[in-house]
Amino acid sequence: MEKRNMVHGFYFDTINYIDACAPKELLNEAMRLCDSYNRLLSKSIETSDIWRINHAEGKSVRVDPHTTAILTAGAEIYRASEGAFNMTIGAVSSLWNFKAEQPRLPEPEAVREALRHCDQSLLEIDGDSVRLPKGMQVDVGGIAKGYIADRVGEFLRQNGVESAMLNFGGNVIAIGPRPDGEPWMVGLQRPGGEINRDFWAAVPVEDMTIVTSGTYERGFTLNGKRYHHLLDPRTGYPVDNEVLTVTLLGDVSLLADGVSTACFVLGPERGARLAHAFGMRVIYLLKDGRINMTPDIPLNIVR
Ligand code: ADP
Ligand code: MG
Repeated sequence: MEKRNMVHGFYFDTINYIDACAPKELLNEAMRLCDSYNRLLSKSIETSDIWRINHAEGKSVRVDPHTTAILTAGAEIYRASEGAFNMTIGAVSSLWNFKAEQPRLPEPEAVREALRHCDQSLLEIDGDSVRLPKGMQVDVGGIAKGYIADRVGEFLRQNGVESAMLNFGGNVIAIGPRPDGEPWMVGLQRPGGEINRDFWAAVPVEDMTIVTSGTYERGFTLNGKRYHHLLDPRTGYPVDNEVLTVTLLGDVSLLADGVSTACFVLGPERGARLAHAFGMRVIYLLKDGRINMTPDIPLNIVR
């Protein structure tokens, strides 16, 4: 078998790793793929599909098939989650800056006004054309990394890779078992712990995707209250429920990513129903320490 190599890169506002039995040059090529997807899907790069959709002032825009694949999956998850997952939350999410050095809250009036422009049912996808009413903004932050992980995983498999683990900011894909034949062990990040070092549990996986949504990586604390990047589309404010993190296990990272964001918003009861409707398993870690999960997940608890 090929020698084991590791590469990383900073795309989609997060760190991305590939650990694989594959030539370094192939892994570098995979990272270059990430860069091209970033240029297609970034909200801030002026030539990206998402930027062009958001600045078309209500006109129809021709986009890449990758973009329509993501938007179409997002439309399905929007319907299935009864709006808990909403890619047209952009007008609201752009009012929040979770990376600011001096964080501040948006004006409540601005949030209320922006919420009036977040009806995802108004996003039209017709072949390779996409139309968004003026004043609305698409934000694919809750689903795009999953799609890119799928595509990069596919690229590696097509190039003969039989053992690899990809982690794109919490979207993990395991290809085959580890080089020693044992399953890959995927650690579930302990909220508040050191990123990529401190885990509260681990799950053995092979040929699967495992995606976590949590509030520990992006957010700020102001006057004793935690504000984070998972927004409740009904209020325009960070979701305030009993969930600390939620992890989805499935076959398609695109769907697992969107559904994990929805599951966070919906909470453990409705979220578990949504995950099961998509044929996925789910692990909730709740704020009071309880674990709520699909039976028969071989979870190794560390804590
Ligand atoms: P991460 O992997 O960074 O935790 P998630 O997949 O959990 O990302 O999604 C978070 C991102 O999704 C936010 O940064 C924002 O861009 C977008 N988002 C926030 N709330 C929602 C929502 N209710 N529905 C869809 N997308 C959302
Ligand atoms: Mg997501």
